Amino acid sequence: MSALEAHELYRFFHIGDDETAALRGVSLTVSSGEIVAVMGPSGSGKSTLLSCITGLDEPDAGRVEVAGKRLTRRPEVERARIRARYFGIVLQAGNLFPHLTAEQNVRFQMQLAGKLDERRLAFLLDSIELSHRASAFPTELSGGETARASLAVALATDPPLLVADEPTAEVDEGTEKRLIEHFEARRMSARATLLATHSEALARKADRVIWLSDGRIVDG
Ligand code: ADP
Ligand code: MG
Repeated sequence: MSALEAHELYRFFHIGDDETAALRGVSLTVSSGEIVAVMGPSGSGKSTLLSCITGLDEPDAGRVEVAGKRLTRRPEVERARIRARYFGIVLQAGNLFPHLTAEQNVRFQMQLAGKLDERRLAFLLDSIELSHRASAFPTELSGGETARASLAVALATDPPLLVADEPTAEVDEGTEKRLIEHFEARRMSARATLLATHSEALARKADRVIWLSDGRIVDG
């Protein structure tokens, strides 16, 4: 069974009389232990695809299944439950609560999932090199630290599925390398990882690259 299956996803946006077809029949699967990168020009639909796959957005047509469970066409409260159980998510807009410190953000994520584990929390902050910034608030973090804290939140519960939208967009080469190590470590524990990225370095580490153009898969 695939960790994630998306079948024929369509998503249209309307602004006034204008219609944008952000997704036009996108299908993909991600297996346990696999890293899949989605690449493509700006506006090709990468973020829309990841939003639909995590159930944060609802596609106009198509189906998403997570570990064999249908996610699409369910009430938001059920989608949220499935999301909390299966997904770790890094969004472009960031996933940190501004009034919580880096450490509190990660702890809160664990609490939300009913999986508070202080040892894992300490291990995660240490392995992602954030221990010394644990008590900093998001506004006090550099770009690279923000990216690491966001990933720590997404990895808080060691989720079966990590979905990350351009997780290394604003980090230096050294930080990107370290983030990549965290993605690669997930292979060992049979965790699935789906990333949207412009980074060649990151794409090289993926098992597969899916190319999007104008809301369609053109290769992969
Ligand atoms: P990418 O992440 O590859 O840059 P997006 O998924 O953000 O692409 O966008 C795909 C297309 O959908 C673009 O034309 C974008 O302008 C449009 N789009 C995305 N989100 C919205 C929205 N909430 N409302 C209207 N148009 C949107
Ligand atoms: Mg995007």
